[in-house]
Amino acid sequence: MKVTKAEFVISAVGPAQYPEDALPEIALAGRSNVGKSSLINRMISRKNLARTSATPGKTQQLNYYRVNEDLYLVDFPGYGYAKVSKSQRAAFGEMVEKYLLSRDELKLVLLVVDMRHPPTKDDVSMYEWLQHYDRPVCVVATKADKIPKTRRQKHVKIVKETLGFQPHHSFVMFSSELGLGKEELWEIIESHIGY
Ligand code: GDP
Repeated sequence: MKVTKAEFVISAVGPAQYPEDALPEIALAGRSNVGKSSLINRMISRKNLARTSATPGKTQQLNYYRVNEDLYLVDFPGYGYAKVSKSQRAAFGEMVEKYLLSRDELKLVLLVVDMRHPPTKDDVSMYEWLQHYDRPVCVVATKADKIPKTRRQKHVKIVKETLGFQPHHSFVMFSSELGLGKEELWEIIESHIGY
């Protein structure tokens, strides 16, 4: 996809604020600091539209970014950040859950994981949850540039094994630093929105 326009639209704190123009939505889930903002910025070729997190876990809204007049990238609150209180966590957990289960516009969930390490318990739970409810998923293993080329496939294998990756889902190795995986990920997104 050629991105000619990308803009931040809203930090939605609830369904009343979700856009009503029926554009397809691609959600990004992942633990805090995994690199979701950097991924968004790389995908839309902007340095700083998505805020890279100075305070991980602070974002508790769904951040909507419109790309051209084609789709929204919807950044979820990062999960697994200890300093968020239990009630806060429950509140945005509920919001995310409701969105994932009932948002008609949702076409694909990008589950972003850090390729350097095996996925965390939270990553595995998220993936299992998405699988259970049969949501369309693409696992994006990011920060590939931090691993020497010769060892990347080994890391991919560990990520897949730890998640219990299902071959009918998509998988992309990504680097926001290098732009690795960008075209491949756009192709996957396009195929899910009938572009
Ligand atoms: P978020 O909390 O998921 O939005 O994470 P950010 O996008 O703010 O990234 C967290 C940190 O990881 C920042 O310091 C980024 O510069 C760094 N980072 C994110 N993606 C990559 C990547 O692909 N490669 C490298 N080397 N660093 C990355």
